[in-house]
Amino acid sequence: MSAGLRLSRLGLGGDPARLPHLAAVPFVATDPGGAGDVTLLQRARVVQCALSRVCGVCAQTLDRPLHLVGTADEADDNAFRLPPVHAACVADLLAVLEAAGDGEVLGHEAGADRRWTLVTTGGFDLVRPTTRDGLHLFRPNAVVERRAV
Ligand SMILES: [Zn+2]
Repeated sequence: MSAGLRLSRLGLGGDPARLPHLAAVPFVATDPGGAGDVTLLQRARVVQCALSRVCGVCAQTLDRPLHLVGTADEADDNAFRLPPVHAACVADLLAVLEAAGDGEVLGHEAGADRRWTLVTTGGFDLVRPTTRDGLHLFRPNAVVERRAV
């Protein structure tokens, strides 16, 4: 990666110390210009992933089964914040999540549950927020497997 591209990924006003991971930012954390901040989920990307059935990491079309990564609490509630990803993209997503330690990452607050869980499913329902600043949630509806990762 060139220095210029790395700078654009960080954003000119970004503070590199806040970014736990300098590798590719997951698609769901990028803005329309392609810049990204791994602490945030970009709402427009979340919706795009859900409606276009594209991967939250690489933005390519998803195939079945789908893979949802979230906290153990999200898995218990059957409601994930992160859109589904390819099997091959799970490791990249986990690398970003784990690099953040206890810090804010991909829409998960600092200090929150860090028991990352992988659910494999044949499909999902999108639960739209009931408030203006609420979260879109992914509800797996044909779970094949659940495991801690
Ligand atoms: Zn992918």
